[in-house]
Amino acid sequence: MASPSPPTTTTQQACAACAHQGASSCPPNCGLAPYFPADKPKRFWYARLMFGMERILGFSEAEKQGIRPNGSTVISMAAVVYLADARVEDPILGAYGRIRKLQQQLDRLKAERARHSPAPSGNGKPSPS
Ligand SMILES: [Zn+2]
Repeated sequence: MASPSPPTTTTQQACAACAHQGASSCPPNCGLAPYFPADKPKRFWYARLMFGMERILGFSEAEKQGIRPNGSTVISMAAVVYLADARVEDPILGAYGRIRKLQQQLDRLKAERARHSPAPSGNGKPSPS
């Protein structure tokens, strides 16, 4: 099976970030195009709302230079995209909504497992052994 080709950095159409700034096409090797393709304008909109353009450019540049995310001043672009996509999915709760859904799923699975596993021996009576 052929692996998908990596995202291209030169596009005919401006990425969502460049389009937002009024450009009709990206500059060569646009650093934001892989993260904010033209068909994901809402992702860029939320990312910009949450982090601001300057910080997004800073995170992108840090990643280009191989600066490791440290969670406070630098986060990875993958995290920016994840948080922005979570907002697209759930504008109110964002990433918290995803975590809450996973927690509910985990609680359901734990309850199901408890129903199907043998009852614990602690029924109030001393065990025969
Ligand atoms: Zn671009």
